[in-house]
Amino acid sequence: MKRHAFWIRALLTPALVLGLLAGFAPGAMAAEDGGEPSLWVEKVEGLPEDFILGVDASSVIAEEDSGVKYYDFAGEEQDVFATLAESGVTHIRVRVWNHPYDADGNGYGGGNNDVEKAAEIGRRAAQYGMKLIVDFHYSDFWADPAKQMVPLAWAELSLEEKSEALYAFTAESLKTLNDAGAAVGMVQLGNETNGAMCGETSWDGVVALMQAGSRAVRETCPDALVAVHFTNPERSGAYADYAKQLDERGLDYDVFASSYYPYWHGTLANLSAALGQVARDYGKMVMVMETSYAYTVEDTDFAGNTIGEGSGVVKNYPYTVQGQANEIRDVIDTVAHTEGGIGVVYWEGTWITVGGSSWEENAALWETYGSGWASRFAAGYDPNDAGKYYGGCAVDNQALFDAEGRPLPSLRVFSLVREGSQAPIVADATEDAHLTAEVKDEIVLPETVSAVMSDNSRQEVPVQWELTDELLDQMHTGGAASYVVTGTAEGLPARCYVDMFVADLLQNGGFEDGDAGWTVNDIAGADEIYVEDKATDSLTGTKHMHFWSAAANSVEFTVEQAVEALPAGDYEYAVSIMGGDSGESEIYAYVKLDGEMTATAPMTITSYGSWDTAHIDVTVAEGESLTVGVYVKCAGAGGGAWGKIDDAMLNPAA
Ligand code: CA
Repeated sequence: MKRHAFWIRALLTPALVLGLLAGFAPGAMAAEDGGEPSLWVEKVEGLPEDFILGVDASSVIAEEDSGVKYYDFAGEEQDVFATLAESGVTHIRVRVWNHPYDADGNGYGGGNNDVEKAAEIGRRAAQYGMKLIVDFHYSDFWADPAKQMVPLAWAELSLEEKSEALYAFTAESLKTLNDAGAAVGMVQLGNETNGAMCGETSWDGVVALMQAGSRAVRETCPDALVAVHFTNPERSGAYADYAKQLDERGLDYDVFASSYYPYWHGTLANLSAALGQVARDYGKMVMVMETSYAYTVEDTDFAGNTIGEGSGVVKNYPYTVQGQANEIRDVIDTVAHTEGGIGVVYWEGTWITVGGSSWEENAALWETYGSGWASRFAAGYDPNDAGKYYGGCAVDNQALFDAEGRPLPSLRVFSLVREGSQAPIVADATEDAHLTAEVKDEIVLPETVSAVMSDNSRQEVPVQWELTDELLDQMHTGGAASYVVTGTAEGLPARCYVDMFVADLLQNGGFEDGDAGWTVNDIAGADEIYVEDKATDSLTGTKHMHFWSAAANSVEFTVEQAVEALPAGDYEYAVSIMGGDSGESEIYAYVKLDGEMTATAPMTITSYGSWDTAHIDVTVAEGESLTVGVYVKCAGAGGGAWGKIDDAMLNPAA
């Protein structure tokens, strides 16, 4: 109960405080049935013909091995790479781990993405005219800012030896890809290498390794671009620093790439500024190498998702198919209009649910084929993360295909950004409404909610709430509690979150701030009367006024609070007590007006946990002073009396 200031403000506001609008209730846009595209896409003006529109499809083979089938927009089974190419995707990105297998050959999961998988993916992508972006992690498993673990086989090598090994691995891998028929268009020297890579944590070490990789790319795939890849563009000055570190050490590269997950990575304007500065200062090309957005909050594979209901992240678009498309379109628009901007890659657009009927069924597939983010076999290499949290897919709700493998309408964004779509602008989702009300107040739900239109603009639209008498009654009688009222607006589901609170005009009525505001008058000299911090003995919160005394007839005290500057009116005072061993006792709550006790309400203590609450109605005249309190007198039974007083409350009468 630390919200006194807020509560009093709310109390002084006649009825209600309408809160901020934060969440969304999405409508439904199912996978397309081949009819008119319903997706709204604003044209990206001036999009270069050769702008890279990529999708990371690293998990496809593990998915297919697990039984996943992908379909075209007409509902026919089709090579997923054909569907991606038809949708305007120009590049396929694939991660490469050195050796994602344990000593017995069991895959670590996350697609078990070794160079053979990359070759197969590259071959299939090339079949449909798409180039390959090769994402060397230079690790045996996931590399990101939290971990840049050296491959096991290189663990004992010096930096010089590791550079040699990295050079040879890069060259051999690229040769394998070339031989398979992949059209290698770009090669990444590490993944999200914010100051660390391949076990090296100094820029000297990192850049020495990157330089070895760069040399291998130049020799093996002379037409491919060499890229570096970082994340956290929201960190002020970070990219300028990274680019400077690379420049000072003379790294030979072409593209400075960033991840951009809008939940965490700041605004698009900031992203553009950070990348644009690198492009201007060092003459580099820049791009977004990873982005994604949830099209639903539903999880479909029994492995919880990173982004879901109540993820508590920045949410600039609703979690709908249209919201997902708008996010992609806006990232493309941003990069296309950033100096040096050459492309955007969507991360793991094809990583969807395998199995589907139960966690057990899915887990067997994840473990066998590597279609989950990590398998238990990764525990030896990565004990602290994969070893603890291995399992399924945490991003199935951010794929560009639904749980059955049908392409989402949002996949068309990659072609629609070139000309724009002709679909009408319609309401796509509603923003959640929030209401805070005192339990005695009339509950007035908003008459309109904000609809998120398919162009991501907002319009107020009428809403019909489904507020039953039963729920209404519960709100008025359930004390401080939160509720969700559902409704319908423009045919879309709508939600209003209602937080009911109980007003309290006392200072520190629950003793959470110690004895502040209270006066104890110890008449008989008890052994103990003090505010105790013990949640199990408190009615609410963690603290209460405790008393105990060993000798007979040594418990007699009052605890009271004078209420300052109370406006004239009718009030209700309540306070609770529990305790035991009272013997003969006299316990009551009381109110005093101008120092004269005008009303009391008897209370009893019986046994541990049996709280007794007293209520007193009192009318305060203009200028009259009110004091509320508790009087306790116990003879004590045997070992003496004890008790706990908590949650004194003074509220305006109903
Ligand atoms: Ca999941």
